[in-house]
Amino acid sequence: MDHCNTSDLFSLEQALTKMLSQVTPLQATETIALTDAAGRITARAITSPIAVPPFANSAMDGYAVRSHEFNSTIPLPVAGKAFAGAPFKGTWPANTCIRIMTGAPIPDGADAVIMQEQATVNEQGVIFSGHVHVGQNIRLAGEDIQQEAAVFPAGVKLGAAQLPLLASLGIAEISVFRALKVAIFSTGDELQPVGQPLGEGQIYDTNRFAVRLMLQKLGCQIIDLGVIPDDQEKLRQAFETANAAADLVISSGGVSVGEADYTKQMLDELGNVGFWKLAIKPGKPFAFGKLASAWFCGLPGNPVSAALTFYQLVQPLIAKLSGHSTWHPPLRLRAKAATKLKKTPGRLDFQRGIFSTNATGELEVHTTGHQGSHVFSSFSQGNCFIVLERERGSVAVGETVEIELFNELLS
Ligand code: AMP
Ligand code: MG
Repeated sequence: MDHCNTSDLFSLEQALTKMLSQVTPLQATETIALTDAAGRITARAITSPIAVPPFANSAMDGYAVRSHEFNSTIPLPVAGKAFAGAPFKGTWPANTCIRIMTGAPIPDGADAVIMQEQATVNEQGVIFSGHVHVGQNIRLAGEDIQQEAAVFPAGVKLGAAQLPLLASLGIAEISVFRALKVAIFSTGDELQPVGQPLGEGQIYDTNRFAVRLMLQKLGCQIIDLGVIPDDQEKLRQAFETANAAADLVISSGGVSVGEADYTKQMLDELGNVGFWKLAIKPGKPFAFGKLASAWFCGLPGNPVSAALTFYQLVQPLIAKLSGHSTWHPPLRLRAKAATKLKKTPGRLDFQRGIFSTNATGELEVHTTGHQGSHVFSSFSQGNCFIVLERERGSVAVGETVEIELFNELLS
């Protein structure tokens, strides 16, 4: 990989294209229990082993009839009962009906279910009101999914919309891609892990927490190497340990101007890493490349920049590495600016905003306020990025802007 001249500004698209063109998805797969599969990615297309529903059943509590025997004035005696899990068995005499409950198998010969609200019971049997039409209140076998039908392709992430469906098909085990192993550490003499008192000049380590949470949502296996001080030998050791343990190594801090030179020098010996200045705000410095065997992403130290570059660059990278081929970038919409937005032309801005609909039903967006790259509260207050084009200047109230809704990584 060619090392970029640090004076070059890279657009987000250029950086993403460069990263994604180099990596290929994991090949290793494993078969796991459906109950352990939340957040994992399907490794093979899944077809349905059964039809759903597996048999025709009643959509209502009522009475199963043969529609040609239906006559709303003559009572039909009840010949038996069908419950969910306990079908009607035995012979069904002509001109009778069968009491049936929702989910119960439709008795052979029945072609309609009359709901109980249309039934009056007396000593002679059941008198129905209204009309009947063939098939009414019957859920047909395979109405939801036919046997052998395609359910999901490979590359789908399994969550609350997918796993219950697989459970309804009786699928107990599933082939998924091996979870991506990601080693993380923060760099900086000033960083304290949470739970420790702060000494003079120290701050708490925000980035490792943010990165870990986002990695969990991406279904990764996390190897947390903690805080590494700004010491060349300790850093080198951390990189070597991380490289040996993981598919991807993510550090934060130490890639700003000045520090980058020294990290760069060390990484030059350990692999082939490019140090980029991105034309985005926040989050200018970013490093990407390959260590001896693992991929490497170096996030900026400022917490908003670290979270943003993770979200915009590392998230799609991990989707590709993990085999999540159906991943889509977060949804972008257009909204009216409800507050002024300060911006200088030159970089693509990802300001944090709060979108809502106004009195006339239009989407509008407010700023979360201070947009400093250290103001992490802008994420908890906001629900979207306000994406302001590279060459755009400040935005006046009423102008149309593009917003990008936070996806599950930031919720
Ligand atoms: P650096 O990129 O290491 O020069 O850091 C830039 C700024 O981000 C400095 O103010 C650091 O103290 C701060 N910083 C670096 N890493 C973290 C972290 N893990 N959590 C919170 N702040 C950080
Ligand atoms: Mg630092």
